[in-house]
Order: sequence, then structure tokens, then C-alpha cells
Amino acid sequence: MLQALLLSRELARWRAAGRRARLWWRDDDARLPTPALERLLAHALAFDAPLTLAVIPDGDRAQLAERLSSVRGVRVVQHGADHINRSPGGGAFEFPPERKAGEIAAALRDGWTRLAPLPGALKLFTPPWNAIHPDLIGALANEGYVGWSAWAEVSPKATPPRIDTHLDLLRWNPAPRFRGKARLASQLRRQLARRRKAGAWDAPIGLLTHHLDHDEAAWKWLAGLMRTVRRHPVLAWSDLGDLLSEARPAT
Ligand SMILES: [Zn+2]
Repeated sequence: MLQALLLSRELARWRAAGRRARLWWRDDDARLPTPALERLLAHALAFDAPLTLAVIPDGDRAQLAERLSSVRGVRVVQHGADHINRSPGGGAFEFPPERKAGEIAAALRDGWTRLAPLPGALKLFTPPWNAIHPDLIGALANEGYVGWSAWAEVSPKATPPRIDTHLDLLRWNPAPRFRGKARLASQLRRQLARRRKAGAWDAPIGLLTHHLDHDEAAWKWLAGLMRTVRRHPVLAWSDLGDLLSEARPAT
């Protein structure tokens, strides 16, 4: 209750300033049509929320392409190359430190070849586990990616442009589960306050979901958020393509 109250006070400050917060939505780990993916798409369509699907390109994605061919307004971006964790110990990453720039570029290219034919495909990369190899950004630039997306930065200056996520619907340890209403309210409030204090009103706030791992509480909160945003004077969805075209330097 306290967190919800504090969040509504922060939203009131935005309203008083005549500002709108720009939310965007990224969902990770799709490969194929599944009942969970259907549920996710139903949320996006019912509430007209622009959804970005971060798809793992480790195999033929023709079935997903077929499913998405009848859905409007969904973006498809690239989530990793094969999404295999090659960390020998703590942390998680698919490109080990010793992996060479040329090998990374080849893996990116191979993955993108499978995703490019999908409806709504946008050549943007999201590293699994937000693990950023030192040669990743250079490889993305060389391979012609229009952007990339990881975690937590508010107004990053990067080439290609970086548009991050900030609110994770799930907690991960020891097993995925809903993060909790109070925690999410608190995190949204902190993201809003940070932008207000920095005058970065337009800096997007990214919601990160993982449809294959949602429990019922997570689905319920997501539907509640969709209902709230639909009517809210301050909260509004933004499309990733629009955010990217603003982030791209003018030529
Ligand atoms: Zn992932």
C-alpha cells in the first residue's frame, strides 16, 4: 500500500508538470508459437500495447513467422545468437571473453539471417543475460544493426543507439516467479523520479517480461498494468521503432 501511495504521488508530480512517461515493452526468449505466447499476444492486442518480441534465432523460425503474419504491431528483434550460456562459473554469457570480434560478427549474422524474414523484424540486438562482450558493440555497428537493448541505462549515448529495459516482471533466484506488486511499484516510482530530477522526461522506461516463465500472479499484474496505462493521464506506451528513430543521430 505504501509503495502504491508513493507511486501515485510521483505520478501526480508528472501530471502537474504536464509530462507523460513513455513506457515500452520487451518480451524475451520466444522461439515458437506456444500457449504462453498466445496469452502474451492476446494482452498486447486487447490493450493495443506495442510489443517487442526478442526472439532466439537458434533454429528455423518459420512457425513463428506464420503465427505473426496475422498479428499487427508486433516488433521482432534478435535475442542472442544461440542463447547458450558459456560461463564456466558465476554470471551468464553466450560470448566468452576470448571470443574474437570476427566470430561474434559471424554469429550475429547467422542469427539475423533466420529472423530477417519474420513479420515486424527490426535489426536490433538484445544480449542474453544483458552480457556485453567488449567487441559486441563494434560488431553490431559493423553488421548494420539499428540499435541494441540491455538493462538499466536511462539516456545512454551509444552507437548503434541503446534503448534499455528497467522493470523486470520476474525475480529469478532460485526460480522465476512474479517480482511482487510492491517491488514493481517501488521500481517504477524510482525510474520516474530519476527522470524527473534529471529533466529526462522523454527517456523511455522499459518493461521486461518473459512469457514462458510467468506465473499467474505475473500475468495478473501485467493485465492490470495494461488496463491502467490505457486510461492513465501520465503513463503511455511507445513503440520501439519510434523510440529508435528519435535516438538515431540526424544525418
Ligand atoms: Zn533470454
